[in-house]
Amino acid sequence: MGSLFRYIADDIAARAESGDCPGCQRSAPLFPIEAAIDDDEWSVGVDCPEEICSDCIRRLPLRKFAPRTGEKVVQELINTHHPKGTLSGEQRVNRLVSICDEYRRTPAYPLFLQNEDWPWCCGDFCEYLGVPNSYEESIRIGSEMKLWRGDYKQLYGDMTLEPESLNEVCLFRCLKCGKEVFTWQMT
Ligand SMILES: [Zn+2]
Ligand SMILES: [Zn+2]
Repeated sequence: MGSLFRYIADDIAARAESGDCPGCQRSAPLFPIEAAIDDDEWSVGVDCPEEICSDCIRRLPLRKFAPRTGEKVVQELINTHHPKGTLSGEQRVNRLVSICDEYRRTPAYPLFLQNEDWPWCCGDFCEYLGVPNSYEESIRIGSEMKLWRGDYKQLYGDMTLEPESLNEVCLFRCLKCGKEVFTWQMT
């Protein structure tokens, strides 16, 4: 679990480049996120700063952040991990709100070229670990790690995992059980 962002591994967050934050005008590491700094509320079509510092990401109220398509699965992941009767209605709502809050404050690092499909497991989103460091690592991941959606062999047969860009392959780990999965969205 990242200490700065729950769903981003610390060594990935540590690579953020510094610049002048449009939210607080300080020089700080900046993170890609859709949030409205000046407008009262975020709304479609508002020019959102593309990068702000982590203090601003924590400080801004949730309504300032753009809704994300990936958060549609939060109800499903709660239902799957906490079937009706295992949590009170209030606990389920609190859980949903806290996951959505954290997710909207998560920098958009993983490259979802086709659709935002952030892996989840054990009732929460997984932690983003980055991309393969080399093609050797990518090929190994393709044969040893589980694809998030579908079965690799069924989808790609004997094809090795050698994407056009290594950024197309994103690695994730469950915060609870430690299971690792990868996504591959091609250009
Ligand atoms: Zn700031
Ligand atoms: Zn898990």
